[in-house]
Amino acid sequence: MSQLKIPTFKENVDAFVLKASKALKLSEDLINHIRSTHSVIQVNVGIKIKNKIENFTGWRAVHSEHRLPSKGGIRYSAHVNQDETEALAALMTYKCAVVDIPFGGSKGSLKIDPKKYTEQELKSITHLFAERLIKKGFLSPATNVPAPDVGTGEREMVWIMDTYKNLFPTDINYLACVTGKPVAYGGIRGRAESTGRGVEESIREYLRHEHLYKAVKLKPHLSDNTIVIQGFGKVGKSLAYELFTRDKAKIIAIGEFDGYLYNEKGIDILSLIKHYDKNKSFKNFKGAKFINRPDEVLTLTCDILIPAALESVINMRNVEKIKTKLIVEAANGPVTYNADEYLYKKKIHVLPDIYVNSGGVVVSYFEWVKNITHVRFGRIQRRYEENKMQELIDIIEETTGRTVPEKHKTNIIHGVQEVDLVNSGLEDVMRETFKEILNNYKNLKNVSLRTATYAIALDKLRKYHQDMGVSNYH
Ligand code: NAD
Repeated sequence: MSQLKIPTFKENVDAFVLKASKALKLSEDLINHIRSTHSVIQVNVGIKIKNKIENFTGWRAVHSEHRLPSKGGIRYSAHVNQDETEALAALMTYKCAVVDIPFGGSKGSLKIDPKKYTEQELKSITHLFAERLIKKGFLSPATNVPAPDVGTGEREMVWIMDTYKNLFPTDINYLACVTGKPVAYGGIRGRAESTGRGVEESIREYLRHEHLYKAVKLKPHLSDNTIVIQGFGKVGKSLAYELFTRDKAKIIAIGEFDGYLYNEKGIDILSLIKHYDKNKSFKNFKGAKFINRPDEVLTLTCDILIPAALESVINMRNVEKIKTKLIVEAANGPVTYNADEYLYKKKIHVLPDIYVNSGGVVVSYFEWVKNITHVRFGRIQRRYEENKMQELIDIIEETTGRTVPEKHKTNIIHGVQEVDLVNSGLEDVMRETFKEILNNYKNLKNVSLRTATYAIALDKLRKYHQDMGVSNYH
């Protein structure tokens, strides 16, 4: 790719795909077909706000429909555009294929700064946007299912679900038209934390492989490495929480749009969450120094750098200043193609987005399955398991004449809950997928972890096209 013209987000994603397709020796016509967006709609919604008509432009891109529904978040931001939406939709195709989730890829966006509008205004705008997508065939439980992304959350998802339910009151599967809902409205326990937790699982998995962490001089225990995170939204905050509470991680800096917090001894994340939730800002937090140069957070010296906010933040303008050993892409597309090439040459490892942040779509899949089966995971077997375990303990106590200590009893008897199953399913996906990445990393020879990951997706998509008889590919 030329260094003169700044490539768009979609061009960056396409370049990563092309590179992996060459490693797999796939034909050019197949790869051109795989890379193309199947359909994209642009809508405009007009609404009267404070006596003035405001117009909002939105998009929904469907990158692939080889498996249905197509899946992907809806983003609310003043900076969105069609190219970005198509790039994010494409990433969803590859992500679902990598982690073997039976969905196609999609994404939506609305050009709006949500901070400028009241809750009631946002609700009306969301209803109109959702209605337009539904009526045009770009949103339904069977064909196209959104989830939260930047600028949206559980609240917007429940509004969208409500719009669909009102338009199709006889659709028994209306809850499945969107994921990332609050639990009371058909959401699943563990979804809100799933992306952050999946990112954490990806780092844990990486550190289980000596040849990887030794190659970049990382220490085997997560807690012995310094960590920097960019972004303290849904993904960044839950990731920081998981790393701090489960791994005792030393997070030395966290960035937001207006600056970053720094404490070389590590930030107390629980105190920070309390402060941030109350003040909606890092400013005046006692446990770290606030520095009002937001971009600087990416170039701090650290062992593990985790961009968890926006795309293209590590690019040819700052890549030479990056001083880390491992980049973990919690955000979608944070490293541009040319910057990635540079990092590869510098032997800095990059764990790619389509694996790292897949926890969100993995648990969205569990939520969608829960919604179409109409039963909570664990509901049927929990009491049965508890009774069986109680029986086992009774037999042990009877035959040995000894009493099992109460704390062990409680742990053993505790039947499985929805959140246990969700977390175990998520861990399984992250660990099994990493094995496949490592196989490709070894077998394809001299490729990056990203190319090894894309190769999983492309091989599956190739097989799909072959089985459908679209053409004669290798
Ligand atoms: P979010 O809107 O909840 O959080 C984004 C955060 O980034 C916000 O707090 C925002 O203030 C901050 N930010 C904005 N500009 C910044 C800057 N210049 N420097 C530092 N911080 C900045 O969004 P999210 O859901 O956490 O998504 C973050 C990234 O993760 C996106 O790339 C998204 O596509 C990706 N992702 C999200 C999910 C999910 O389940 N939410 C799943 C997969 C991938």
